[in-house]
Amino acid sequence: VFDIRGVTKSFGATAVLHGVSLTVPVAGTTVLVGPSGCGKSTLLRLMMGLEGADGGTVTFEGDPVTAGDLALRRRMGYMVQGGGLFPHLTAAGNAALMARFLRWPRDRIAARLAELSALCRFPSDLLSRRPAALSGGQRQRVAIMRALMLDPHVILLDEPFGALDTLVRHDLQDELKALFADLGKTVVLVTHDMTEAAFFADQVVLMRAGRIIQSGPVAALVDTPKDPFVTRFLTAHR
Ligand code: ATP
Ligand code: MG
Repeated sequence: VFDIRGVTKSFGATAVLHGVSLTVPVAGTTVLVGPSGCGKSTLLRLMMGLEGADGGTVTFEGDPVTAGDLALRRRMGYMVQGGGLFPHLTAAGNAALMARFLRWPRDRIAARLAELSALCRFPSDLLSRRPAALSGGQRQRVAIMRALMLDPHVILLDEPFGALDTLVRHDLQDELKALFADLGKTVVLVTHDMTEAAFFADQVVLMRAGRIIQSGPVAALVDTPKDPFVTRFLTAHR
């Protein structure tokens, strides 16, 4: 679905991506993994047109991605790093943000929210609460509901398990993996945790300092590492 060719990106004098090329196939899960600051979130934002590339091209389902193209964005569900919930909006208001923006009728929004709260196991009696009155795990579920609201073709999640304790994280990981398999959608997931990457990935893309060091199934990285960094990263993070 995504075809990324030679993408470069700098912020001011800081080069963040140095010619990144990557194909994300339809269906299945691609995981972008690598140390903090290597450019994972920036690459994800470029894929969605939330950021413009300085050089190279990004296409999505055959269409060139240009910064600020909203029509393309409707086919992508995004969960921003940290969840990105608005504190003044209720869980329902947060989850339905894009649908409200597109002026869906109230009953359509309500019906979709009912569907999503069942799908994401978010108790519907909590939909009227604000984020401050929800647990961390419940907030993540709201953020996932928001990403799924418009029934996107692809789901892009940036560190979806960020600040959760181990038990809640493992439960949510199990659930989300099953959910992705049921939905049959293309998923792009960003993490710095190799164990998490291995759990989700059909394809893992290992980045370091703005470059892709190696990509492929986890087993291929373990068996035939292209660079000593691959083995170091794999062993240090599991
Ligand atoms: P983490 O795992 O910590 O989330 P990351 O791999 O997602 O890291 P990015 O957020 O893509 O990394 O950031 C890559 C580099 O680009 C960092 O050095 C960061 O400081 C810089 N950067 C990101 N966004 C901006 C911005 N809007 N302006 C200036 N520099 C930025
Ligand atoms: Mg990031």
